[in-house]
Amino acid sequence: MIAENFEYSTPATLAEALSLLASGEAKVLAGGMSLIPMMKLRLATPGHVVDLSRVAGLSGIAEANGMIRIGAMTTHYEVESSAALRAKCPLLAQTASMIGDVQIRNRGTIGGSVAHADPSADYPAALQALEATVTLASSSGERTVAIDEFLIDTFTTSIDPGEIVAAITVPAEAADTGAAYEKMLQPASGFAIVGIAARIRKSAGKISFARVGVTGLGSRAYRAANVEKALAGCSGSAAEIKAAAALIADGIDANSDIHASAAYRTQMARVYGARAIQSALNRAA
Ligand SMILES: Cc1cc2nc3c(=O)[nH]c(=O)nc-3n(C[C@H](O)[C@H](O)[C@H](O)COP(=O)(O)OP(=O)(O)OC[C@H]3O[C@@H](n4cnc5c(N)ncnc54)[C@H](O)[C@@H]3O)c2cc1C
Repeated sequence: MIAENFEYSTPATLAEALSLLASGEAKVLAGGMSLIPMMKLRLATPGHVVDLSRVAGLSGIAEANGMIRIGAMTTHYEVESSAALRAKCPLLAQTASMIGDVQIRNRGTIGGSVAHADPSADYPAALQALEATVTLASSSGERTVAIDEFLIDTFTTSIDPGEIVAAITVPAEAADTGAAYEKMLQPASGFAIVGIAARIRKSAGKISFARVGVTGLGSRAYRAANVEKALAGCSGSAAEIKAAAALIADGIDANSDIHASAAYRTQMARVYGARAIQSALNRAA
């Protein structure tokens, strides 16, 4: 199908983009990998599209004070291939490498992915495990929100009218942290039926730090707090990991669709959760 008619702007500066958005009528275009199909199907019919691709300063990866800031327009390929992320935040680089296919990774952006808030998107699991923050810019300045507050529900975030995602910030990983992302993918699109990100540290033979982010299972990505609690202080035997991963769906109303029933998704989340935790543990120093 063909999209409805719309006005199209290509601002060169963030200030210009934000002033175009201030009316509340316009929609931002990033990589277009989700928005364009939705417009062609007329599931989205914005009257005005503001293309961010020429806005200076919205892409790139920079490390400062133990944190890594990733501009919203940074593509999945740039995240996947960034030497800085591979060295200091391998979980995010690994996650990006598992998104869709080469074309999607070349066009799609991290800002577009989090703003779209697809409940099966990959980044949100890693960003939950990383306790990432999202920087939102508007004509009145910037504010920063924790990823857990940013992701509200399916296709719903805490972006206010007139705001854009400017950047995502993650910690530069401590050398002794092991991290891994494991997903069961939907073969046609690559989207996660379930995807689990884990970060683990050990101290004196015991797990001293565990973060587990889950995508695909619920209406939004979340941190599996009960799994993290169960892992804390244990040695990380296969039986302990399995018992902890069994808690991954606690309190979650599991999604059900043509790809997987709620019961199957739940079971796969446990299986892939155990795999992610084991892989992260194997990588922990
Ligand atoms: C065939 C196919 C397979 C895919 N497979 C996967 C997969 O395996 N895993 C996965 O995670 N994703 C997958 N995707 C989605 C892909 O990762 C998209 O890149 C992503 O969801 C949207 O990013 P985008 O830059 O293309 O955003 P766009 O499509 O341009 O925008 C998406 C939405 O976000 C808004 N938006 C974009 N940027 C900003 C911003 N900076 N601030 C505020 N709002 C903004 C737009 O207005 C729009 O509502 C797939 C997509 C396709 C078409």
